[in-house]
Amino acid sequence: MDLIVEAPVYRPPVEASSLIVQAVLGCPWNKCLFCYLYKTRRFRVRGLDELLESIRLAGAFYSDFVYSVFLADGNVITLRNEYTKSLLKELYKAFPKLGRVSCYGGARFIVRKGLQKVEELAELGLKKVYMGLESGDDEVLKFMNKGATVQDMVEASRILHRAGVELSLTVILGLAGRGRALRNAELTARAVNMMMPSELRIHTLILSPQAPLFNYYLKGLFQEADWREVLTEAKRLIECIEVPVKVYSHASNYVYVSGQLPRDRERMLRTLDRALEDPSIVNFDRCL
Ligand code: SF4
Repeated sequence: MDLIVEAPVYRPPVEASSLIVQAVLGCPWNKCLFCYLYKTRRFRVRGLDELLESIRLAGAFYSDFVYSVFLADGNVITLRNEYTKSLLKELYKAFPKLGRVSCYGGARFIVRKGLQKVEELAELGLKKVYMGLESGDDEVLKFMNKGATVQDMVEASRILHRAGVELSLTVILGLAGRGRALRNAELTARAVNMMMPSELRIHTLILSPQAPLFNYYLKGLFQEADWREVLTEAKRLIECIEVPVKVYSHASNYVYVSGQLPRDRERMLRTLDRALEDPSIVNFDRCL
């Protein structure tokens, strides 16, 4: 049972057992070169009354079965606070066992919203935000049209921490392109150390023909890093992270490396070393 009006819906893998509530369709930014998710979906916000009525109806049948809710699609954090506050109140009323509401939130939108408004949402039960850092290199963020600088990312993380909202961060290996892996890894680790997320979700770039980056690739304006360079980048990233963080690996990665840093660092590095020496254990069937 999900409250989805238009598929497909993308959500973090750890939200697999959450009720998905599609509050907006598409992404209000939708300009990141590497992103293919919402390129054919016009951004719009669902009517609040209709959405609240759907939640009440779902609550009448499933009130005891919902423990977590994920608000889709992209950047739900951008919604007016009055809208999101009504939504949160109705969700916790309809589902008495609900313990967590989460959503995607871009740094530019969190900074624009500011601490006070994020605190208001936290008080009403917004518990977790998934943010895409993607890279800690401002040159890469600019080229990829991310719409935020590393400074914005750090500022947004401080707002979330002060408001008591958990931060889950995503980075994308290979985003800097060929020949720039080590610099990208070191700058990304530096940003992660400043942002102190509870979770780090490591993805690897997949050049989707649906993403604008694909045209840059075809024109020779972006060169893809090969699997060895990407694994070297992963190693350097894991070596340079100094803060405690739980690392999750995505299906787009060449090797599955997850664990709790710093505790599992050596094991994770050994896994990457083994893959660099033995391509037969590398996952070349990566998924988007
Ligand atoms: S990466 Fe996120 S912010 Fe960028 S276009 Fe895709 S959904 Fe929107």
